Formats: sequence, structure tokens, C-alpha cells
Amino acid sequence: MRNGGDCFGNSEGYLEWVATLGRRNMTSSTKKTVLITGTSTGFGKVAALRFAAAGWNVVATQRSPQTETELVTLPDVLVTRLDVQDRVSIDQALEAGLARFGGIDVLVNNAGFGLFGVFESTPREKLQEQFDVNVFGVMDVTRALLPHFRKQGAGVIINISSGAGAFTLPMLSGYCASKFALEGFSEALSYELASQNVVVKIVEPGGVVSTSFGQRSGTEAGQTTPIADYESFVAHTQAVFAGLRSARLATSEDVAEVIFRAATDGSDQLRYVATEDIKPLLQRRRETSEAEYIGFMRGRFGASAESERANAQPPAASNTSTAP
Ligand code: NAP
Repeated sequence: MRNGGDCFGNSEGYLEWVATLGRRNMTSSTKKTVLITGTSTGFGKVAALRFAAAGWNVVATQRSPQTETELVTLPDVLVTRLDVQDRVSIDQALEAGLARFGGIDVLVNNAGFGLFGVFESTPREKLQEQFDVNVFGVMDVTRALLPHFRKQGAGVIINISSGAGAFTLPMLSGYCASKFALEGFSEALSYELASQNVVVKIVEPGGVVSTSFGQRSGTEAGQTTPIADYESFVAHTQAVFAGLRSARLATSEDVAEVIFRAATDGSDQLRYVATEDIKPLLQRRRETSEAEYIGFMRGRFGASAESERANAQPPAASNTSTAP
């Protein structure tokens, strides 16, 4: 598996198993079709395999489909190009999917990435790209598919958000902003599209280390210019994040299972929390008072954490600067 190799390995035996299960699970008259963005790695790839194993037709879209070696071996999987920043490629992928399978029942807007770094160090162009992929890309793919969903009188749209679409973390301000925007868009759209019998769902994964997400975030962070005044804050934040990493036990398969459930449970449930690690923080965010929640987060990252560190340090020779 390209980049990340987190799911099923590369055995021909496994792919044959997926193909066999797929043939067994649905007859051609009951076969449903899903279109997924960003299936080259991570959740998108494992979700494509999950739907295929359940007998679905899968339009597995990627930016560089010519490099795909696994999904192309499966009988009812169409691997085709779709870059969410390229509207022509969106239209072409939809046309190819409709031509091959005759319809699309479920759209999974999965493609996305996370900018990591201090806001002040992050160029405007990078923030623009973050929104182009995580927000405007989702809007463009959704808008392109809606006429088809309206025509067939049904459809399900599943947007892959994040815990960072419900609570925020420092050094991820651009990513959080994009996922908050995605959540607001999805929730508002769900009211509109109920009138068309189209259901909108949001899947919120927490941290899953086995995808290519961290690798890309690291690359993005490596392109920013550090600012010395933030050094102590960054070191503290990195230490908090390192502590959180030990709680990240979920796999791409867990997330793919939740995506599959969202597609098939027949409900109009809006949000699905996909991994255990974020449930305590989500509960604090959603079930405690604003003051209590913000106080808790500031204690971890903000002003009170800063003053705790300052108090723990020996008195400085100079009393004029707090800079490291
Ligand atoms: P991943 O392995 O990096 O997968 C991201 C996918 O998005 C890749 O296939 C990538 O394709 C694709 N992509 C990026 N930019 C694109 C574009 N312009 N057009 C089309 N595809 C594009 O990461 P992942 O963890 O599976 O992430 C999938 C989704 O889950 C993202 O929306 C992410 O924000 C969300 N999420 C991830 C985590 C986590 O901890 N892993 C947690 C919460 C939410 P290329 O190979 O071409 O780059």
C-alpha cells in the first residue's frame, strides 16, 4: 500500500477475498454505488475496500490514479482521477462513475489534509490551500453530484470532519478553522437537502497515526519559518501532543467501519464520532459550560499553562523580558 500501509497489506489473497465477498454480498440488481474522494491512502483507501467487500460498486477517486496498484485489481471498483481543486476533474470523475455503474447512491467527501504550525508562521497561500481542499473541494464535489441525487430522489453525503471540527487545538488553527467550516456547512446543508430526500452526515475521527495524515502535516510544518518568541509555547504544545499520541489506538479500519455504518444504517443521524480517544474532550466541549471548558483548555495550552511554566523556572537575571 502506498504511503502509510496501514490496513490490509498487499497480499493478492486479501484482494481476492474482498472480490469474492463483494460478489457474494449483492446481486447486480441490488448493488449500490459509492463515490469516495482521496482513496490513495488512509481512511479513503480502507473505506473503498470496505464497501467493495460488502458488494458495493466503488468509484475510488484519486489525484494520481496511475500509481494505484491494489484497488484497480477489484472487479467493481473504478479508480479514476479527481483532484478536489480541479473542477473539470470532478465533473469527469462523476461522468465516468455514472457511465460505468448507472448511478451513485453515496458520496464520501474524505480528501483532506492538516496544516500544522503557528498561525503567524503560516503563509496566506497555505491557508487558502487548506480551505480549497477541506472546504471548497467538498462544496464543489457536492454541488456537482446534487443534480444527480435530486433526479434519483435520494442520496447520502458523508463528510469526513475531525474532532478538530468540534474542539480546537493550538498549532492547528487553519485545520480547525477548515473543519469547523465543514461542520457548519454540513449541518446547514442537511436542513436544505432533507427537502430533496438527501441525507447529510458528518463523521468525526480522532487521531489515527497509521494514515499518511501526519506525514503530510509534518511536511507542511517543515515549510514554515519558526519565530523565536513561540519556542517555549511550541515545546510545551508538542509535549502535550506527544502525551495525546499514546491514546491514539484507533485504526483506519475502525474509521472505515463507521463510514460504512453511516452509509448503510438508513437513519438521518447527523454526527458520528469515529474513535474513542476524542470522546472525553468532545463530551467536555458539548456537555460542560463554556467557562469550564475554556478554563480546562487554557490550563493545558493557554495563559495559565504559560504562567505555571514561568513560576516553575528560576528567577531570570533580567526582569524585563519573558522571551526565551
Ligand atoms: P491521508 O492518508 O493523508 O489521506 C488523505 C487523502 O486525501 C489522500 O488520498 C490524498 O491524496 C487526498 N487528497 C489530498 N489533497 C487532495 C486533493 N486536492 N484532491 C483529492 N484528494 C486529495 O489521511 P487520512 O488520515 O486518511 O485523512 C482522510 C480524512 O480524514 C481527511 O479529511 C482528514 O482531515 C480526516 N482526519 C484524519 C485524522 C487522522 O488522524 N488521520 C483525524 C481526523 C480527521 P494524495 O495521496 O494525492 O495526497
